[in-house]
Amino acid sequence: MKYIGAHVSASGGVENAPVNAHNIGATAFALFTKNQRQWVAKPLTQKSIDTFKANCEKYGYKPEHILPHDSYLINLGNPDSAALEKSRAAFLDEMQRCEQLGLDRLNFHPGSHLKKVSEEQCLDTIAESVNIALDKTSGVIAVLENTAGQGTNLGYKFEHLTYIIDKIEDKSRVGVCIDTCHTYTAGYDIATEEGFVKTFEEFERIIGFNYLKGMHINDSKKELASRVDRHDSIGKGLMGIDVFKRIMADPRFDEIPLILETPDDSIWAEEIKLLKSFAGIEV
Ligand SMILES: [Zn+2]
Ligand SMILES: [Zn+2]
Repeated sequence: MKYIGAHVSASGGVENAPVNAHNIGATAFALFTKNQRQWVAKPLTQKSIDTFKANCEKYGYKPEHILPHDSYLINLGNPDSAALEKSRAAFLDEMQRCEQLGLDRLNFHPGSHLKKVSEEQCLDTIAESVNIALDKTSGVIAVLENTAGQGTNLGYKFEHLTYIIDKIEDKSRVGVCIDTCHTYTAGYDIATEEGFVKTFEEFERIIGFNYLKGMHINDSKKELASRVDRHDSIGKGLMGIDVFKRIMADPRFDEIPLILETPDDSIWAEEIKLLKSFAGIEV
């Protein structure tokens, strides 16, 4: 079964996210559990937590179909030790918020080397950061998202993700999220049938589908291998519609949250309907 949704607004409180998801016909959703552009946020209130859980129950959202995303400010591979501490503290707070909300996974971008250390050193730091957070929490899987490789962001090769996973002590609490736009602009040509087959064979060989805990379903405004991260609405970008048909018809992508992060939220309901039709789900 495919679970399809979008990264919905949690403005006014996390408890509004499941309502917003329900209103666009989503069967999965993503959210920020705090303002993604601020370092520190007020703790979640008990009322907010209880209402979030009640709304998820009411609209039928299970934790395994909800993919919270952490703040864009966090860099778990930051070469500067004071900045790294700040990121680690913020990441721990994000993990704890997920724990409080009864969520089982947190999606994040691995980190950036900022041209100050080697890729390998940065990946080592990221793995250490994740181990520290996992040690202090329970029940939440740290989900590494592949990136477009813009600037000095790591995670644009499957090898980066598996390098980190190898260094995580508790393998049951690490996973990956594949963003279709990032995959494409990182240089994996999933837009063609041949490239799609090859890329996911490689994914299975290097990482393994057992680690796949979610996907971001986005078209791209930028070309293959451009290393630029600009999402587009489904079928409106450079990737074409076929890749999305293939994903929706492929059982390897069942049972995980499939999340739109497309730029025009006014058409999310339509996009979800379209993806559901590709998955053979009655709408
Ligand atoms: Zn992301
Ligand atoms: Zn994404």
